[in-house]
Amino acid sequence: MFETLNVAPPDPILGLNEAFRKDANADKINLGVGVYKDANGTTPILSSVKEAERRLLDVENNKSYLPIDGLARYGELARQLLLGNAVDDERTASVQTPGGTGALRVAADFARRALGASRIWCSQPTWANHANIFSAAGLDVQSYGYLDDSGSGLDFEGMLSGLQQASPGDLVCLHGCCHNPTGVDPNLQQWTDLASLLKQRQLLPLVDCAYQGFGNGLNEDAAGVRQLASALDELLICSSFSKNFGLYAERTGAMTIVGKDANCVSAGLSHAKGCVRSNYSNPPLHGAAIVATVLADEELFAQWEKEVAQMRTRINGMRKAFVETMASKGVHRDFSFIVRQLGMFSFSGLTRMQVDQLRSEHSIYIVGSGRINVAGITEGNIDRLCECIKQVL
Ligand code: PMP
Repeated sequence: MFETLNVAPPDPILGLNEAFRKDANADKINLGVGVYKDANGTTPILSSVKEAERRLLDVENNKSYLPIDGLARYGELARQLLLGNAVDDERTASVQTPGGTGALRVAADFARRALGASRIWCSQPTWANHANIFSAAGLDVQSYGYLDDSGSGLDFEGMLSGLQQASPGDLVCLHGCCHNPTGVDPNLQQWTDLASLLKQRQLLPLVDCAYQGFGNGLNEDAAGVRQLASALDELLICSSFSKNFGLYAERTGAMTIVGKDANCVSAGLSHAKGCVRSNYSNPPLHGAAIVATVLADEELFAQWEKEVAQMRTRINGMRKAFVETMASKGVHRDFSFIVRQLGMFSFSGLTRMQVDQLRSEHSIYIVGSGRINVAGITEGNIDRLCECIKQVL
């Protein structure tokens, strides 16, 4: 049977990484895949994570299976970090998942199988994997407009009118903060207006929180999801510790259900567990044990919070440095929007042709849409990067 298969195209983002790895140019620059890099261009293990691992090595005494929904303490702490006091804990339950991707798949399976949802609305553009995950779960994926004509700000009216097309019972995928790929988020008033529209049209929000702490701060970045949680009876939240804990390979995420009351939530949880059981049975331990150790310990929490702030400050510093360096090279195009955007990504406005040219002529790797991972910029590569962008412009 395999002889009839054609080779499938490489993943547009992870495939870029493979090409980068094979490139022999010593000055190559990778602004493709969404992984944080420090000033030396490496992806460090946080010292709070290392310390938690040391402690776990001493106390862990078995590697038996976790429950289907994972470590209970991890679920509580992950919810607390996301929701603060926005909603009564008895109205919430979480399933520990393999990364944010696992959370999105469990949420989509749950919505399709238990709630009978058939459609999900995603921003145009959105993270490239959203459509893959949701359609693999059997949902019809539709899109609502997101960016204004300049391509660098939010078209909130367009977003609302796009969502008016959705039918009651449809899901709406929203990025909790640091929208990937644009770096453009709604403000608090807009979150309030979104909550009203979702309620009025009986739409179920699925909030994807993959970058808490990378925008303005841990609490600030959760303001939107907290606003929805306090205004609505029901929502699904998919969160990831890949970025803010640097636990990419440990696959550490959560799918949180917010419901009207404890009974609704426990019924919901029972169905979500069914989705997990038939998919990967139960989640991996290590990443969740690290996160639970850090979040539960005052001293480790403070250390981690400081490390998140360092990552955030570096990214925002690089945003500013990029805009200044382009201007200092006499490039007239206005890149000031890069400073206003939040998180790891920005839409650079580079065309596919310019992106191709940067790769083939300068060994600079950017996703075809022109999305750049700002965290891939360092003091060491920014000058060459800006010079090459100037050339292709
Ligand atoms: N959602 C968004 C918006 C993301 O950018 C990512 C990671 N690139 C994820 C979810 C998935 O995160 P994880 O690696 O934890 O599966």
